[in-house]
Amino acid sequence: DVLGQVRAHLSPRLALVYGMNGAGAVEAGGAGARVDLSDGRSALDFGSYAVTLLGRRHPDVVRAVVAELETMAVSTRVLANGTTAHFAARLADYADPGRLTRVWLGLNGSDAVEAALKLARLATGRSRVVAVEGAYHGKSMGALAATSNHRYRRSLEPLLGGVTHLPADAAAVPGAFEPGDVAAVIVEPVQGEGGVKPLDPAFLTALAAAARKHGAFLIADEIQTGLRRCGERALSVSLGLRPDAVLYGKALGGGVQPLSALVATEELYAPLAADPFVHTTTFSGHPLGAAAGAAALRAVEELAPRGTRLAALLAGGLERLKRRHPGLVTAVRGRGLLWGVEFGPAGAAGDVLLELTRRGLIVSPCLGRPEVIRLVPPLVAGDDQVEEALDILDATCAAVPD
Ligand code: PMP
Repeated sequence: DVLGQVRAHLSPRLALVYGMNGAGAVEAGGAGARVDLSDGRSALDFGSYAVTLLGRRHPDVVRAVVAELETMAVSTRVLANGTTAHFAARLADYADPGRLTRVWLGLNGSDAVEAALKLARLATGRSRVVAVEGAYHGKSMGALAATSNHRYRRSLEPLLGGVTHLPADAAAVPGAFEPGDVAAVIVEPVQGEGGVKPLDPAFLTALAAAARKHGAFLIADEIQTGLRRCGERALSVSLGLRPDAVLYGKALGGGVQPLSALVATEELYAPLAADPFVHTTTFSGHPLGAAAGAAALRAVEELAPRGTRLAALLAGGLERLKRRHPGLVTAVRGRGLLWGVEFGPAGAAGDVLLELTRRGLIVSPCLGRPEVIRLVPPLVAGDDQVEEALDILDATCAAVPD
């Protein structure tokens, strides 16, 4: 009994969450946007915390990983590895070619955040970090200091010091930079866990300009927004913010390998260029992840036009949903294939999430905003699957009392 084992050895509460999400069933397979459950049913996966951008087991990614597994060098730390070098070169030519040319590879979003904050401190000799209220950057101790959610911070104070969280308001920007000792500014162009909140372009522009003016590095956390999730390779670059680093994670390993990356300017990367041992982790640049990542980047670019079409369908459908259920749905927000639906009545979002699962649509909650559910369909979803998800949402909203 899988849930029994989870309850006994991992966490009773985790078993509850898994039980709810699969309505008591476990994952048994699937393809594309569809997941098969062990009880014979199947569901559309528009959740999975933005990891399954390419759906389940994308054939190109699987083929690349299997081929790598059969030939790969075992050690990544002693000899140079061709697969890893090739992937780094692809990434260095991806987010902002010619400018973001240096790469550090990690295994999860938090470690890319840690790398960025350390590099900014080393490169500037300063220690302060400016982040944004509502931000989510991970839960390792350094990343947690940049995450603003009280729930995860409160019992761990004091955290890494020197982080200021400013409101996402251009008027608040100048005050955050005095007395001029800021090493890094870290920002998600659309806050994911914070309730799917696209930040005001005027605020982002003011933040980027202040960072430049005060000699602080601008770190764009695109762990959720990047890789065409919001339509662009890096939203921060497309918005003209000229970040000093873009962070990728989640879908970077094609949904089959744990993988993250910091893609940075020469200037921010300088401490690592001078001494690679200032920031290492044993499995950094592991070739299986690199093989998955190279295949995933290729697939994501091929699917980008389809993503644009699905995004228009989804945006239109969610606006209709809001109009049809005005007492229940108080806002829909998003960009590309990252959307949040906010529910007015207390507890309604949780009820809707459970009912959606029962009716065959998996969505994600937002870790920082329990009243918002998040829809993150894969680029490989069919138009009909987006329509099906919208129908399930509509029927569920009609069934849940407001
Ligand atoms: N940054 C952002 C924007 C994220 O959404 C997340 C994960 N939700 C992280 C960082 C942390 O990534 P990980 O959970 O892989 O450590």
